[in-house]
Amino acid sequence: TYIGLGSNLDGPHRQLQAAVRGLAEIPSSRVEQVSGIYRSRAVGPGDQPDYLNAVASLETALPEHRLLDHLQAIEQRQGRVRSVRWGPRTLDLDILLYGDQHLQDARLTIPHPRLMERNFVLVPLAEICDAKMLLPDGTELVTLLATCSRDHLTRTDLPLTLADASAQ
Ligand code: AMP
Repeated sequence: TYIGLGSNLDGPHRQLQAAVRGLAEIPSSRVEQVSGIYRSRAVGPGDQPDYLNAVASLETALPEHRLLDHLQAIEQRQGRVRSVRWGPRTLDLDILLYGDQHLQDARLTIPHPRLMERNFVLVPLAEICDAKMLLPDGTELVTLLATCSRDHLTRTDLPLTLADASAQ
């Protein structure tokens, strides 16, 4: 399972590091790898600060909706205020992929619907998974990477470390 992390408010680097610690505390789960941190330009209304983005792989025995509950609890804990759709946020956690599961209901769409078109998801994802991995539509990640724009996306040197407590 791959989780997308993003923040553009209130100390984004600190937010991402706290989120990884939060992921490490989810029951019946283990954080396997985290990507580097990327800086991307905000998409959405008005003038927003740049985002920091990363992707983490999580080995989990939780079903999809239970996992989402935990991700939303982490978002809430880190002070996310839901206001404007696409507006700035202290922390956004998305389930990008859950094995090869496909599902769609009122709360969840898996694979994440915008996964394929977001360079700030694809590029960090490629750091921590097999580039030959097949994406939801059957294309290889490498193929998509070859054509995906690197506009407004830079890899930072900011550290993002796996919390020691990740083992359950
Ligand atoms: P947003 O404010 O854009 O982060 O959207 C949050 C909403 O997206 C939540 O209420 C979730 O129920 C819903 N959602 C749908 N699919 C996913 C997914 N794959 N991962 C996380 N949230 C999702």
